[in-house]
Amino acid sequence: MTDNALGGLFGGTAASLNLAGSATTTAPDATAQNDGQTVHNVIIVGSGPSGYTAAIYTARANLKPVLFASSISPGGDLMTTTEVENFPGFINGIQGPELMTNIGAQAERFGADIRYEDVAEVELEGDVKKVILTDGSVHLAKAVIISTGSEYRKLGVDGESRLSGHGVSWCATCDGFFFKEKALAVIGGGDSALEEALFLTAFASKVYLVHRRDSFRASEIMAQRALAHEKIEVIWDSVVKTIDGDEKVSGLTLSNVKTGEETTLDVEGVFVAIGSDPRTSLVQGQLDLTEAGTIAVEGRSSHTSIPGVFAAGDVIDPTYRQAITAAGSGCVAALDAQHYLEAL
Ligand SMILES: Cc1cc2nc3c(=O)[nH]c(=O)nc-3n(C[C@H](O)[C@H](O)[C@H](O)COP(=O)(O)OP(=O)(O)OC[C@H]3O[C@@H](n4cnc5c(N)ncnc54)[C@H](O)[C@@H]3O)c2cc1C
Repeated sequence: MTDNALGGLFGGTAASLNLAGSATTTAPDATAQNDGQTVHNVIIVGSGPSGYTAAIYTARANLKPVLFASSISPGGDLMTTTEVENFPGFINGIQGPELMTNIGAQAERFGADIRYEDVAEVELEGDVKKVILTDGSVHLAKAVIISTGSEYRKLGVDGESRLSGHGVSWCATCDGFFFKEKALAVIGGGDSALEEALFLTAFASKVYLVHRRDSFRASEIMAQRALAHEKIEVIWDSVVKTIDGDEKVSGLTLSNVKTGEETTLDVEGVFVAIGSDPRTSLVQGQLDLTEAGTIAVEGRSSHTSIPGVFAAGDVIDPTYRQAITAAGSGCVAALDAQHYLEAL
């Protein structure tokens, strides 16, 4: 793609936006002062693929980003999984934690200041934004990128956390490929559960759809497709009591909600598809949200409802929620923030 084409896409010239991500000569001062307190160019909240990618780009643009990564779960969702086979660049796949450690180290190599601390509160209005940590310290910035991710809803049953990445998954697109010719269970009854079940029929020998009610919440068309599929068998009125297995999943114990009867189901994989919640608690009441509960952004950009505040990754994405889409979205937020700072 030419510089002109890129400039057209982003509403400026490629040179003025520094789209190549190299150190820019037009970047604002790395930091400024406000009543004696440092005002950073950009603070990034969240350390998944989106936050770390935003840190790589803003660091390479000489913006000296500060990234608050969380003290409890730095590195984001991929820290909780094993093999990642669909992130480009790794012919034989890569372990999730290794991938995230590498992306973080890549950002640090260019000067990103990654701090393993938790943001408790933000004040986003005005030219200088406040980011307040759980220890009460206040950090100022001209721009803020929110990349706090989303959280898959858990069943909260025995075996679920222990066997996560060892047969328990929340993402058919990510993990379906690992279950060729295996019997699987999908838990849920909404559109996304049925989509996951239909997708998994391409790999699995059998897909049990375990639903706690006697009819689906999903749209009629999806319900018809699932019910008509020869590999899908619906187990109605049932909830998961335990996910069983020592090193990896070997089955489920189910309980019928009407009769109380307990049964077991032999499966080697369990896909939990009962929804996810974007982590928006920090920005509730400040930024506009969508009906899906994600942070609202303008079109394909990362611009939120407040100037100088950008959002990226799963927290803006009700649909794709992949590491690569989150990383791409982090790149967009970095370029948008850079453009905003250059215009100040
Ligand atoms: C088990 C599992 C396996 C997966 N496997 C794959 C796969 O194989 N391939 C793939 O493409 N995708 C996979 N995904 C999906 C992928 O992990 C997500 O799409 C991606 O991580 C989203 O990135 P993100 O940057 O938006 O947010 P996240 O990865 O969720 O990261 C957000 C980070 O922000 C931090 N944070 C939140 N609030 C605060 C705060 N107040 N202060 C400081 N930090 C905060 C969180 O602690 C977290 O570290 C998987 C997801 C899961 C759960």
